[in-house]
Amino acid sequence: MCGIVGVYGHVEAANIAYLGLHALQHRGQEAAGIVTSDGDHFHQVREQGLVGDAFDKGALARLPGHLAIGHTRYSTAGDGSGRNVQPFAVEYAHGSLAVAHNGNLVNAPELRRKLELDGSIFQSSSDTEVIIHLIARQREVDIETRIVNALRQVEGAYSLVFLTESKLIAVRDPRGFRPLCLGRLKDAFIFASESCAFDLIEAEMMREVEPGEMVTIDAKGLRSVRPFAEEGRRFCVFEHVYFARPDSIIDGRPVNRVRELLGERLAQEHPVEADVVIPVPDSGTAAAIGYARASGIPYAQGLIRSHYVGRTFIEPQQSIRHFGVRLKLNAVRDVLNGKRVAVVDDSIVRGTTSRKIVKMLRSAGAREVHVRISSPPTTHPCFYGIDTPTRSELIASSHTPDEIARYITCDSLGYLSRDGMMEAVAAAMPAKDEAKVDKALPGARHCDACFSGHYPIEFKPGSISSLRRVVN
Ligand code: 5GP
Ligand code: SF4
Ligand code: MG
Repeated sequence: MCGIVGVYGHVEAANIAYLGLHALQHRGQEAAGIVTSDGDHFHQVREQGLVGDAFDKGALARLPGHLAIGHTRYSTAGDGSGRNVQPFAVEYAHGSLAVAHNGNLVNAPELRRKLELDGSIFQSSSDTEVIIHLIARQREVDIETRIVNALRQVEGAYSLVFLTESKLIAVRDPRGFRPLCLGRLKDAFIFASESCAFDLIEAEMMREVEPGEMVTIDAKGLRSVRPFAEEGRRFCVFEHVYFARPDSIIDGRPVNRVRELLGERLAQEHPVEADVVIPVPDSGTAAAIGYARASGIPYAQGLIRSHYVGRTFIEPQQSIRHFGVRLKLNAVRDVLNGKRVAVVDDSIVRGTTSRKIVKMLRSAGAREVHVRISSPPTTHPCFYGIDTPTRSELIASSHTPDEIARYITCDSLGYLSRDGMMEAVAAAMPAKDEAKVDKALPGARHCDACFSGHYPIEFKPGSISSLRRVVN
C-alpha cells in the first residue's frame, strides 16, 4: 500500500506535495519522497521514515519548481531498502521521467525476467521499475503513447502519477483497485490517493480519476483519455473496511459512512447482550459507533491508543512480553470493570493482536468479552497492493470462527457476512451518485478477494514477488 500525490502549476509545488503526503501518511510509513520539476530539471529528495522525518528543514528548499510528485511507501513488492524508495526518477533518450506507484503488478517478475534477458539492468527490486523500463523501450515520440503501450503489457493494480519536465500524467488501471482523486487549488491541479489530502491543502475535490483513465496536465490544460479495454470495476473493498482514512471520500462514498454502516449491519447480524461497546482504535472506531447506534448499547472508549508509537526496536524478553501491544493500546479500567464488553475491530489477520487485546480487557476487569469484526474472515492474501501475509499466516485460512474465538480467548466472536459487507458499501453511496456511476459503468463492483478467494486477475502460482507484511 502506498500514498501518491501530484501537483501541477503551483509556485510551492514541493510544499503542497509534502502536505499531501502528510495527509496520506497512513498509507505508508516506511519511506517518503518528492521529485519536482522546474521546467528544465528534476530535483529530488527520498528518505526512509515518516514524512515529517524524511524531509528535514532544508529539504523542501532544495525542491524548486511548479510541478511535483510524491510518494509514501509501505512495501508490498520489493524489500524495504533505500533503493526502492519512490518516486523513481530516470534520465533516458526522451529526457527525464519520474513515477510514483500505488498498487502491485502481478506479472512484474515475468516481465522483469524478460527485460533482463534482453539486457535491462535494474536498480531496485520494485515492480514499479518494470514500468519505467517498458516506457523507455517504446519508440513513439509522445510520452502518453509510450506510457499507454507500456501499461498495456502489465497486469495488476496501479494508480500512477508520472512527471516529465513539463507534464503531469495520472493513470488508473482498468479495474481501479486503488483510489486516485483529482482536485483543484486555484489555478493548480492536484492528484492524491485520497481526498483527505485536499482538505489539508484547501484544494477542492473535482472528481476521482476513473478506472482505465489517463489524465494529462500540461501548458495546454487538462486532457483525459481512456486508452485501455474496459475490464469492469474492482475497487478494493478493504480500502473501505480498513485502509483509507475515514474523512476521505473515495469510490464515490464517504469512508466514515461506509464504516458506520458496516458496524450497524454487524449489530444486526451478530447481536450481543453487553453493557458497553468499545472500538479497537483507530481502525475499529467508526464501525463501533455504528454497532452501538444499531444495538442501543452505550459506546465508550475502553482502549486508548498512543499516537506516538513509531518504530520500536526493543525486543522484549519473556518478563515484559506484552510490552509490544501495550505500547500502542491501554485498557480503561473505569469503562471496563465488571462489564460485559463488545469490542469492535475491522479485521483479524494473524489473531495475535486480537488475543492480546482480549487478555488486556479481561485484566482491566471485563466480565465478558465479545469480539465483533466489521468484515468477513480474511482467508486469502492480497496481490494487488496490500501487504498481507502468506495464506498460512492468515488465521482464518485454516481455522473456523469457533476455533479463532478459542484462540483469541473471547466469549463470542462474530464476523460480518460478505453480503452484509457489500450491502453496507452499496448503501453508503448517495443515491443520486450511484445512478451516475451505474450509468457510466454498469455493474460497478468491488474486489473482495482477500475474503472470498475470487481474484479478479488470475496469476500463475510463484509469479508473485516477495509478499511480506507488518501487522499493526
Ligand atoms: P491480529 O489480531 O490479526 O494480529 O491484528 C488485527 C489488527 O490488524 C486489526 O486491528 C486491524 O486493524 C489490523 N490490520 C488489518 N490489516 C492490516 C494491514 O494491512 N496493516 C496493518 N498494519 N494492520 C492491519
Ligand atoms: Fe483489496 Fe482484498 Fe482485493 Fe487486495 S484482495 S485489492 S485487499 S479486496
Ligand atoms: Mg487496527
